[in-house]
Amino acid sequence: MKAMVLDNPNSVGLETVSKPNSDQGNSIVRVTHSGVCGTDLKIFTGGIPAEYPLIMGHEMIGEVIEPANSSSPQSGTRVIVDPVLYCGECFHCEIGQSQLCPNGGLIGRDQDGGFAEFASAPPQNIFEIPKSISDQEAPLVQVLTTVMHAQQLATISSEETVIVLGLGVGGLLHIQLAKAAGAKTIIGITRSAWKREVAENLGADITLAPDENTKNLVLDATDGLGADLVVESAGKLSVLAQAMDLVRLGGRVLGYGIHTNTEGSLPFYDMYFKEIQFINARAATDKDFVSCLELVGSGAVNLKPLISDVLPLEQLGKAMEMVGTDAPQRMKIIMDHT
Ligand SMILES: [Zn+2]
Ligand SMILES: [Zn+2]
Repeated sequence: MKAMVLDNPNSVGLETVSKPNSDQGNSIVRVTHSGVCGTDLKIFTGGIPAEYPLIMGHEMIGEVIEPANSSSPQSGTRVIVDPVLYCGECFHCEIGQSQLCPNGGLIGRDQDGGFAEFASAPPQNIFEIPKSISDQEAPLVQVLTTVMHAQQLATISSEETVIVLGLGVGGLLHIQLAKAAGAKTIIGITRSAWKREVAENLGADITLAPDENTKNLVLDATDGLGADLVVESAGKLSVLAQAMDLVRLGGRVLGYGIHTNTEGSLPFYDMYFKEIQFINARAATDKDFVSCLELVGSGAVNLKPLISDVLPLEQLGKAMEMVGTDAPQRMKIIMDHT
């Protein structure tokens, strides 16, 4: 089959490799569309370690061509692949934390992923996509599952003020889910005026550009208290520090962006003095896939405005370059394999 293979950091190209087979009890999916994300960029550049050669890609949809068994989605079914592998038998899997399974891994990082003609996944990682979700939007459901999982850890209640720092795809999904969870006031903060406008269209009550006046504006909007929950969705340590500055005494900071720093400075005294609860989220579970497919299928979450580019699979190298360049109007890049 044809696949985009990462042979070394920063080197990806079209190669012919052997097609995955269903011997290991996996279903085989002909991939039609995949999403490119910041995690791929970190794998591509070597920031996230991987073994080469590797086919990246963990946001993928397609059509089952070889079902693993008679109870999993059958040939011809349009499906999304949950990239989080888990054993189903360990302590974490037993208590419902399959996303943390130490025997598991991520398709597209720890084993070959979706930037190819075909991909293979265990049958429990394959979910049928409702007809109302388009092919181009469907890979974004995987991102939504991670956002939903994160917000479940942070338990948003009505009457709360939620700030989202960083309004990329993840941040804009946080805004939509916080709205669906009934948050009273949602504030989105980003430098991009274009993304602020998208955020307002998707439910943000207030949007701000980060500057020296940001904190005062947040205090004005929160009776002088600060936000109940601040979501860090930029993956930058300075933004995490800003989250701790904008959260109220006794509030929560949700770390959603991925930080690969091994050291750096944070306002540790604020963390102590404000009794900040710091919540980190890594991945999602199968239950998140079921509820996100329902939510998007029903129209409660709008994925279409989050797609900025659609490229043929062969242009993955170009897509990596685009993800790595700061562009105010860049959102999700979808690779079209058809
Ligand atoms: Zn991703
Ligand atoms: Zn396990």
